[in-house]
Amino acid sequence: MRKKGARPEEILPSLAEKGGVLGGSVREVSRETGVPEAEVWGAGTFYGLLAEPGERVRVCGGLSCHLAGTDRLCDDLRAEGHTVEQVSCLGRCDQAPAALDPSLELLSGVEPGRVLPADRELPIDLGGPDYGGYTALERARDLGPAAVIDLVEAAGLQGRGGAAFPAHLKWRAVRAARDATRYLVVNADEGEPGTFKDREVMLRRPHRLLEGAAIAAEAVGAREIVLYLRGEFLDCARSLERALEEALPALAGLTLHLHLGHGAYICGEETALLESLEGRRGEPRLKPPFPTEAGLRGRPTLIHNVETLACLPFVLTEGGEAFRALGRTEPGTKLYCASGAVKRPGVYELPLGVTLDELVEAAGGYRGTPRAFSPGGASSGFLPMRERGRPLDVKHLAEVGSMLGSAGVVVLPDTVDLLEAARVQLAFFAAESCGQCAPCRIGTRFLLQAATRFAGGEAAALAHAGDVAWEMAEGSICGLGMSAASPLTSLQRHFPELFEGGEG
Ligand code: SF4
Repeated sequence: MRKKGARPEEILPSLAEKGGVLGGSVREVSRETGVPEAEVWGAGTFYGLLAEPGERVRVCGGLSCHLAGTDRLCDDLRAEGHTVEQVSCLGRCDQAPAALDPSLELLSGVEPGRVLPADRELPIDLGGPDYGGYTALERARDLGPAAVIDLVEAAGLQGRGGAAFPAHLKWRAVRAARDATRYLVVNADEGEPGTFKDREVMLRRPHRLLEGAAIAAEAVGAREIVLYLRGEFLDCARSLERALEEALPALAGLTLHLHLGHGAYICGEETALLESLEGRRGEPRLKPPFPTEAGLRGRPTLIHNVETLACLPFVLTEGGEAFRALGRTEPGTKLYCASGAVKRPGVYELPLGVTLDELVEAAGGYRGTPRAFSPGGASSGFLPMRERGRPLDVKHLAEVGSMLGSAGVVVLPDTVDLLEAARVQLAFFAAESCGQCAPCRIGTRFLLQAATRFAGGEAAALAHAGDVAWEMAEGSICGLGMSAASPLTSLQRHFPELFEGGEG
């Protein structure tokens, strides 16, 4: 029987405090919370930082870090006597190959990323000084919720986390909910390989994020804001805590909780994130109901990505049309991440719809001769360089079977084995599938094995890959399974010469 008042929400923080699952704390946490041991074990083993905490250096195995020498760094660290664990992605593609020490701090000696161009006229202006005046929030209060939501609609603001859903539609749905208890959840669990923009917003623009979150919360009638931050971003946690302290007078009437994740990529999926906040395994929920109807603790919940919220102060001060006009093919500016074979990896705020060549020009130019690029994280697959003039936006990338996603652009030089790059991405999805639905759980592993066998010379290994990819796209619960085959299928589509002679 559960202790009176004990809730599953207590499991994950208790496990973290007591050294994780392998630290022998399952029984103790179960005794303290009244939650059965099996449930504590099941939840705890889901999260990398809880399952096996301990004295190890975590080295990033994401694509950009792989290109920059993950394997070499692992060897060097082992030679120095460290225990090393290669992990899926650390969100530091601009600092590749990245590694965190056992206390989750970045290993020293790494070049910082870039955040140019800096422009005070831009909505987020990463390169400028932070501003904590909260005049946009005051304006929102003067205008009232209905007018604020109209402004967001006029701005044409689409979610910046990957789905690009029109923001105002979610706001109206939460605002219209009968339930008076509503939440705003900030999705700061940035984990898509190739993506590190939200990290920079939280480090350099925490006030803009907090102000945007307050504007959104008040517009939909939420009094509580929960910010779910990926657990490896301790520098962001420090920055946010400092900013929150400064912002307290301006945020009167709102409560903000900062929740650290525990190392599971899938928790960036909004309903998996809600499950995690409620103390369970981060397994995505079936939709409907959508979070706007039944989100955190079953209440209407507005969930937004960090960058989306950081756009709001500009929309309030300059107007919706001014924001819309900043985009080239779609509204607003976009924080593009550039890594891989570019001279200055970093985050660049540019009009939404610039081309790859324009982004890379901002990033100092190509390093070597480019052969392919991934425009929006691992889920977007690979495109050939003949698409270098295509606008990097939602619509134009969908036309070629790709996606803008979180705008984590990775450039691959002609020295890279593209099949090996696809294998790195497939391995990422196989490791990060939550495992609750069969097409994704089995399909990700099947494709990784098939690609490995094909690369090893087994020409028939990819014979059933197309069927499996179809099953995954049609039968998976969430976007991970639906797009996990794209690293392989995009190569088959755009680089058929790689498969000539085989049966792929
Ligand atoms: Fe989990 Fe994959 Fe199913 Fe998504 S598609 S719910 S990650 S098993």
